[in-house]
Amino acid sequence: MAQSERDDTSQCERCLPAYCCNYFAFEIDEPEDRKDYDSLLWKIAHDKVSIYIYRKSWYIMIHTRCNFLTPENKCAIYENRPYMCREHSTENCEFTGDDYGFTEHFKSYDDLLRYIKANTNFRFKQEPTGVPANCI
Ligand code: SF4
Ligand code: SF4
Repeated sequence: MAQSERDDTSQCERCLPAYCCNYFAFEIDEPEDRKDYDSLLWKIAHDKVSIYIYRKSWYIMIHTRCNFLTPENKCAIYENRPYMCREHSTENCEFTGDDYGFTEHFKSYDDLLRYIKANTNFRFKQEPTGVPANCI
């Protein structure tokens, strides 16, 4: 996680803006039926939302900046930062890792729609929309 002034490493200094401080994610139920997939398409129709699969589990990722990340890319509450931040390793983080090791990462409505059409038997009449990705 973004380092304090005292605990400054060149790696985190070069990571702009601190990748790990610009999103959060939570696990969701694996979609099982057409309604589940339709619900995920609705979710990913919103900006700053992506969906990924990691080790067979499904997650929603919200791309939003932590309010405690300073303009200098530091953590303003470093000494009292949450447990999630304390547990985060800089050795294999979002900056050093290639693709997080995700099996799939759907960054747009079209990404997920194509996956559904290619991997399930559920019929969705709509075609890819051309709406750009919700995140980089
Ligand atoms: S993603 Fe890695 S390099 Fe970037 S701020 Fe977080 S821990 Fe540091
Ligand atoms: S509390 Fe600090 S380390 Fe944690 S996400 Fe926010 S800025 Fe990053």
